[in-house]
Amino acid sequence: VSDAQQAAIAVVEAHAAHNYHPLPVVVSEASGAMVTDIDGKRYLDCLAAYSAVNFGHCNPELTRVAKEQLDKVTLTSRAFHSEALGPFAEALARLAGKDMILPMNTGAEAVESGIKVARKWGYEVKGVAANQANIIVAEGNFHGRTTTIISFSDDPEAHDNYGPFTPGFRAVPYGDADAIEAAIDENTVAVLLEPIQGESGVGIPPADYLPRVRQMTSDHRVLFIADEIQSGLGRTGATFQCDNVGVVPDLYLLGKALGAGIVPVSAVVGNKDVLGVLQPGQHGSTFGGNPLAAAVGLAVVQLLETGEMQERAKRLGERLGAGLRAFEGKGVTAVRCQGLWAGIDIDPKMATAREVCTNLLERGILAKDTHGQTVRLAPPIVITEEELEWAIAQFGEALADF
Ligand code: PLP
Repeated sequence: VSDAQQAAIAVVEAHAAHNYHPLPVVVSEASGAMVTDIDGKRYLDCLAAYSAVNFGHCNPELTRVAKEQLDKVTLTSRAFHSEALGPFAEALARLAGKDMILPMNTGAEAVESGIKVARKWGYEVKGVAANQANIIVAEGNFHGRTTTIISFSDDPEAHDNYGPFTPGFRAVPYGDADAIEAAIDENTVAVLLEPIQGESGVGIPPADYLPRVRQMTSDHRVLFIADEIQSGLGRTGATFQCDNVGVVPDLYLLGKALGAGIVPVSAVVGNKDVLGVLQPGQHGSTFGGNPLAAAVGLAVVQLLETGEMQERAKRLGERLGAGLRAFEGKGVTAVRCQGLWAGIDIDPKMATAREVCTNLLERGILAKDTHGQTVRLAPPIVITEEELEWAIAQFGEALADF
């Protein structure tokens, strides 16, 4: 690490809370799948800001829309209408095959909003007794960092010492549809799941899991809420991971790539019979659905409407999966891959995932460890085939170093 980077890092260490432990690289510019540090060294980004930059850094189509909107109007608040919100809401609802959207900003806000809508639907439509609603969630989940959301996290780092916790959630093992069915009772208003568990290490459930959850939630009049904040919008080789398993949830929770890494944009997407429970004054956000966010969000939806990104993630993802599986038994104990999204378990006898990521950084690849032994790869979908081949080769070289 150069003196310049060390100095830049020291300022952050001194004046920003230490709630992250970044790899030692200070980025100053980025384009497509490549980023450049303050010394001019280039890296291939294989994290894509946790899938917020699915369509590439500074994607010219998307930054052009943002720049145009910046000079028009950026915020009206929802006290008034803006020209930009309607087209975005209509397009996103159509992309998801639903009636309407509830626009918010961050992923955690979309999750919070989904929880509120499900509870309200439970009391006002399903007829659950006051304050008795429960929501079934999965062990190993990651849905964000608010007090309510971390109340049902079993990750001690996310959860401990933030109590008292919000009641009303039941956690069952991920991938076990029978456990969900057993947990459903007359007060259950929703099942909230990640179609693939991203933060826990790209955990892919059995193929019949989500279809079975869909069936039992319909049978018991329970909402199925799919948190597609990380899995959605092209990453898995489809618009939604739910598409890959032939499932349509009642509510989609979207975020990250919806704002193209330019501006935070999230949304709850669903039909009128559910989202219609919200009446004026009952929920809101100063920035939710702002004109800049709506303009960027619309451009993202238009990009996804062509299907090109989804196809590309699918095609390149097959290569990524095959390339990584060749390392099984050579320092890698397991590979899970769906689209351009891979979780690679590193043999603990060889190294930690962070040690592998530090080695990759020296080789010019940005990747992130999760939960000790897993390296997660999720490059921007615009990554070229040559860049991808290079990344796979470098991964092999990195393993050989241990
Ligand atoms: N839900 C899922 C599945 C996520 O992966 C994340 C972020 O990693 C969130 C929710 C929270 O999003 P945000 O960090 O924008 O609040």
